[in-house]
Parts: sequence; structure tokens; C-alpha cells
Amino acid sequence: MGAAPLINIAVDGFSSCGKSTLAKQLAQRLGYTYIDSGAMYRAVALYVIENGLVHDGRLDREGLLSRLDAIRIQFTHDPGTGRSTTLLNGRNVERRIRGMDVSRHVTLVSPVPEVRAKLVRLQQEMGRGKGVVMDGRDIGTVVFPDAEVKLYMTARPEVRARRRYDELKARGVEVDYASVLENIERRDEDDTKRAADPLIKAPDAVEIDNSDIDREQQFDLAMKVVSGVLAKVGME
Ligand code: C5P
Repeated sequence: MGAAPLINIAVDGFSSCGKSTLAKQLAQRLGYTYIDSGAMYRAVALYVIENGLVHDGRLDREGLLSRLDAIRIQFTHDPGTGRSTTLLNGRNVERRIRGMDVSRHVTLVSPVPEVRAKLVRLQQEMGRGKGVVMDGRDIGTVVFPDAEVKLYMTARPEVRARRRYDELKARGVEVDYASVLENIERRDEDDTKRAADPLIKAPDAVEIDNSDIDREQQFDLAMKVVSGVLAKVGME
């Protein structure tokens, strides 16, 4: 028997939907590379915060565009822990980009078409050799429209806010539940209504609502889809 065929897996969905949990599980099981596309938008948000490109909650768009070429985003992968680290211009920003201030600013930069074009190009390069599980908002629609597996994740906003709140608390971040819920609902609105590459379900995506199922059940559902596709691709 030959080696299993390599495919790309797109995992899209709303904020704090468990996309990264599932995408990491799939990558680990299949021996694929997990790529968190949201981390790239978060890194750009951190760049604008740190470089004085936000004034009174408004983005200095021209300033950002003039420096876009100076923003370098990379990932390093630690095979020991299985974790990946986001680098912004060579600096480890993994922890910093998960904070609430970056979450509040990220939808200032994610609708900017030039930002999207730059990041989508990078993401497509990362997926060129296949064997990638990438999560985000536009992976199955824009980044890898030909992905062999597309999953679209949803869950009720209150369920997502509770999970995110617990996760932030566990990491020692001081937050209150109401502002986490408020941020999630605002990003849902921003991400689905923006003109450039909004969050929409690809017609060929399989939807998974995980409001009332646990991680293992979700993983089993997703693996069924993946195994079916791998079997089919392997026979072609
Ligand atoms: O996935 P995460 O919640 O970390 O993403 C942060 C933000 O980055 C999202 O709210 C969205 O505005 C943006 N994003 C995007 N397209 C992607 C991934 C994330 O616009 N593929």
C-alpha cells in the first residue's frame, strides 16, 4: 500500500468556536501542519497598536499601507510540545496577540483588502505542498477554494463566550464574561458583514455545530468526513 494521499483541510467559522482545537487534533492525527490564519491578522493588529497607527479607535489606513511591506509574519513549530509560535518581524508575539486589546483591534485591520491580499498569498504558499490544516474565516472560500475537506463550525454565542472566558482565565488574563461576549458578538458582526472575504459557509463545506457536543464527539464527526475523503482521493 502506498502512503496516504495528502490533502488540505479548511476549518472556518465564527470566533471562539473551537476551530483551533479541532484543527490541531486533526493535524496531530494525520501528521499534518496546523496553521492558525487568525494569528496572522492578530499580528498585524499588534503591529498597528505598537506603531501608533490607531488613533481614538480609528485605523491610520494610509500609514498601515505604507508599511505593509515591513510587516513580516512567520510561524515556528516546536515538535516537542506540538505548539506553534507566531513571530512578528522575528519577535515571539504568541502570548501578546491573544490578549483582549488585540482582539478589540483585529477587525480594524482584517477588512483591509491589501492586508488580506498579503496574508492570503502567504497562506496559499504554506498550503502549496498540501498536508495542511488551516483555520480561519475564508479558508474554504478564498485561500483554498479547492481544499479536499471543508468544515464550517458554529456554536451559540453564549457557549463560545463561556469557553473563551474560561480559557483566558486559565491563562491568568483578567477579563469579565460580559466583555468577552460583547467582543465575540461584535466580531461575528464585523466578520460576516465586511465587503472583503466575509465569513460565509462554502457550498461544499460540512457544518458542525458544537454547542452541545464535546471535543471528542466533534473530532469523531470531523474524522469521519476526512477519512471518507482520504479513501476517495486514494482510489483516484
Ligand atoms: O481566529 P481568530 O479569532 O484568532 O481571528 C481573529 C480575527 O482575524 C477574526 O475576528 C477576523 O477578523 C480575522 N480573520 C480573518 N480571516 C481569517 C482569520 C481571521 O479575517 N482567515
